Amino acid sequence: NEDDDIRAYAQYLFDNDYAPYTAKQWGVSPSEIDPSVLKRVPLRFSYDEGYFDDAYQVMPVHSFTEFFRNLLNHENITVRTGVEALERIAVKDNKLYVDGEPYNNILVYTGALDELFGEKYGRLPYRSLRFEYKYTDKDSLQDAPVVAYPQEKGFTRITEYKKIPVQDVKGSTYAVEYPLPYKSGEKLEPYYPVLTKESMEQYAKYEALASQIDNLICCGRLADFRYYN
Ligand SMILES: Cc1cc2nc3c(=O)[nH]c(=O)nc-3n(C[C@H](O)[C@H](O)[C@H](O)COP(=O)(O)OP(=O)(O)OC[C@H]3O[C@@H](n4cnc5c(N)ncnc54)[C@H](O)[C@@H]3O)c2cc1C
Repeated sequence: NEDDDIRAYAQYLFDNDYAPYTAKQWGVSPSEIDPSVLKRVPLRFSYDEGYFDDAYQVMPVHSFTEFFRNLLNHENITVRTGVEALERIAVKDNKLYVDGEPYNNILVYTGALDELFGEKYGRLPYRSLRFEYKYTDKDSLQDAPVVAYPQEKGFTRITEYKKIPVQDVKGSTYAVEYPLPYKSGEKLEPYYPVLTKESMEQYAKYEALASQIDNLICCGRLADFRYYN
């Protein structure tokens, strides 16, 4: 923009919000991160309080748990949780094996692609989070259910649950989010893919391997190595 004031304001926002937040959240400088990641934080020129501007924003009347329970309630669907898929699925010569037997039906895989291929081209980088759950006697901790704290040391966000949806209870339970690198083997989950030029090239190699397997469908935030919201 040609206007000095607008440029100065943009620079101020970048220096005081985007840059420190990015350094904490991603552990790298903003210049290394793919621009699609920074675009996630939209600028709002209105008094709307919501984060999203979708016309329809709803929650299931009887909770998400109930919603998924109903979706999965079908005689052709069996749900098994707590199963490590990679102990059962294997890939050899562009063919899928399940429990050691060749598998010719369609297989949908929602895990990380590097893990499916034994990290052949190295580990894809992810960030994880440590959540610290706390309680306060105060009836309100912050003005909104989720607030980002770009300036604070160590943590990025606080979520205050009684505000989503609004509950009339005494005190308040909240979670403080501390970003950290994801390492397998520790009790961490891969949450956010670190999208840099190098990691996207690395992912493309895994994607090329996956595309050679006709009956494999890879999808979801991990297999797509994308940030979904
Ligand atoms: C910390 C965090 C906060 C978020 N907050 C929001 C939010 O406020 N609003 C919003 O809209 N979106 C939010 N998102 C994004 C949203 O959660 C995701 O986009 C969505 O859940 C992605 O669904 P998915 O099916 O792609 O992946 P997932 O929900 O991650 O599903 C993948 C599944 O595959 C399983 N899996 C992976 N590997 C294996 C394996 N080896 N063996 C067995 N099972 C395996 C996992 O256990 C998991 O159940 C958030 C994401 C994160 C990480």
